[in-house]
Amino acid sequence: MLENLTQRMSRVVKTIRGEARLTEANTQEMLREVRMALLEADVALPVVRDFIARVKEKALGQDVVGSLNPGQALVGVVHKELTALMGGDLGAEAGELSLATQPPAVILMAGLQGAGKTTTTGKLAKWLVEGGHVQQGRKSGKKKVLVVSADVYRPAAIEQLKTVAAQAHVDFLPSDPSQKPEAIATAALDHAKRHHYEVLIVDTAGRLGIDEAMMREIRALHDLLRPIETLFVVDAMQGQDAVNTAKAFADALPLTGVVLTKLDGDARGGAALSVRHVTGKPLKFVGMSEKLDGLEPFHPERMAQRVLG
Ligand code: GDP
Repeated sequence: MLENLTQRMSRVVKTIRGEARLTEANTQEMLREVRMALLEADVALPVVRDFIARVKEKALGQDVVGSLNPGQALVGVVHKELTALMGGDLGAEAGELSLATQPPAVILMAGLQGAGKTTTTGKLAKWLVEGGHVQQGRKSGKKKVLVVSADVYRPAAIEQLKTVAAQAHVDFLPSDPSQKPEAIATAALDHAKRHHYEVLIVDTAGRLGIDEAMMREIRALHDLLRPIETLFVVDAMQGQDAVNTAKAFADALPLTGVVLTKLDGDARGGAALSVRHVTGKPLKFVGMSEKLDGLEPFHPERMAQRVLG
């Protein structure tokens, strides 16, 4: 078991008492503990460094109020900053999908192979078809949704989406590995327009690693589809590596949000902070199971709590 931040800090807290202000001296040891705990929670090192610097800036000189001791006051600052950096500072609507456009509203799914794109496509489609989504603070009703796969490299990928779509009771547009991804996208747009779909979700190919050809292809799809949402799907279990992947996708595409999958695993959620930091985009959803109802809106506060332990 990892020693969590709260435990780590309370050990140090006991050694400092009776000081009325957070200072360089009385925060130093505790910030070291924060640093260790964040690294153990799989937050990437550069992100940890930035975070510590931010906390320090906010904390130093702050008065310790009421019955708190400096350690507890610092825990408060850490918690507040974590929540803010997770997206708490983006306001309540950060986690919403934006669909307000001339239909079909296109959602483009991007990410590495195995990240959970196809599963998340099914989950999102189900969520939209059932009207579970919220827009500008209220539920905006059931949507007519079409899904399509532009993954022509993995023969099983198109079949997998077909199965997922059937389970989600969502319309699936067949595509074929002999087609070019751009041709699939064009056909899907055309089909969605002719049949008055409100939302078109386009699943894309993922590779095992980041390569330039893959990025070129998804950029071309983006240019063609002009999606209102470009979601980066990333596996929480990727931990520290999530940073490099997120950076590559954020550089290649104008992302609008992030979906963090497999949070039901034992990941401490540090990837959330890293990805948020690197992309600057809001986390919109988290994947909590393999099942199609395992998608939840992202809550910055809950994620901060998870990272803190
Ligand atoms: P893709 O290659 O990005 O399309 O990834 P898939 O959608 O095929 O997902 C890869 C594996 O991860 C599959 O076995 C999924 O069932 C699993 N998976 C996806 N999302 C989640 C999640 O939120 N939790 C869990 N436990 N498994 C997930």
